[in-house]
Amino acid sequence: RRQLLEEERHLPALTIDGTAIRLFANIELPEDIEWVQRSNAEGIGLFRSEFLFMNRADSPSEEEQYAAFAQVLRALPGAEITIRSVDVGADKLLADSDLQLYPSGLNPALGLRGLRLCLRRPEWFRRHLRAILRASALAPIRLMLPMVSTVYEVQQTRQLIEQLRSELRAEGQKVAEHLPIGIMVEVPAVAMAAHAFAGVADFFSIGTNDLTQYALAVDRSDDDVNALFDPLHVGVLSMIQHTIAAGDAAGIPVAMCGEMASNPQWTALLVGLGLRHFSMFPGAIPEVKAAIRATSVEDAKVMALAALAGTSELFAHVDDIET
Ligand code: PEP
Ligand code: MG
Repeated sequence: RRQLLEEERHLPALTIDGTAIRLFANIELPEDIEWVQRSNAEGIGLFRSEFLFMNRADSPSEEEQYAAFAQVLRALPGAEITIRSVDVGADKLLADSDLQLYPSGLNPALGLRGLRLCLRRPEWFRRHLRAILRASALAPIRLMLPMVSTVYEVQQTRQLIEQLRSELRAEGQKVAEHLPIGIMVEVPAVAMAAHAFAGVADFFSIGTNDLTQYALAVDRSDDDVNALFDPLHVGVLSMIQHTIAAGDAAGIPVAMCGEMASNPQWTALLVGLGLRHFSMFPGAIPEVKAAIRATSVEDAKVMALAALAGTSELFAHVDDIET
């Protein structure tokens, strides 16, 4: 099987009926690039930039952040690269005292995390965004905002980015003319209101790890409730479908970068729900590509309808795991 996957490494991710699916990689650190190159991913769909800030006592300077982004961009010339702004808080904590959250109540997953925290630490966020804007001059990157819950947060961030763009230009630094800014769809209300976010987002990327956690009220890192963590729940699937439909209607690309996208058993279902851009850990790409090549969009749609109706055989599979 491994040899077969190796032989198919260079084949396109096309369904049996010829629909092209784009496969991207998730990375955490510049060191992961080698793995991406071997996987034949089209680019990077999620660079979890918070990992540059972890395992150290302070935050990296603007210069250090820029150097890390530049390293990734130079290693993958011409590839589409999506850098996610820092997503800390909840389960991802940093040592940097500037980012020690005020006690975020009993529910840190519902507290100051991701974009919320960044907007509350403007000086720190400016350094981060300046590094990303400077990197935008090197290659056509995209910026993705995590843990968005309101349109206003996106507008505020856009305003800050415009200020920083002028500031950098005044300093004689190069910045791209256009930096696409998209959002993670990982808060249920955002998924259900995706049409309203199409006006402020250049793209969507569905974060099924958090979306499932929040939609089902199941802590993603609590083993005691692990069996209830089910992205195939009809409620979660409906949100995924709604997000894809809203993106399609608005003409903006929709990707999925949560772990759900890396499970080859669910690939056809996602294609049937209309998903065309997948992002996952590089090691999962060969199996997901094989699943795409074994699927027709027509069959995938039938599977998606059954899943949305709650009658899919895929559910039996989840029950097997639980027992
Ligand atoms: C997600 O929530 O699905 C996601 C991709 O982001 P993270 O796992 O980093 O929270
Ligand atoms: Mg997330």
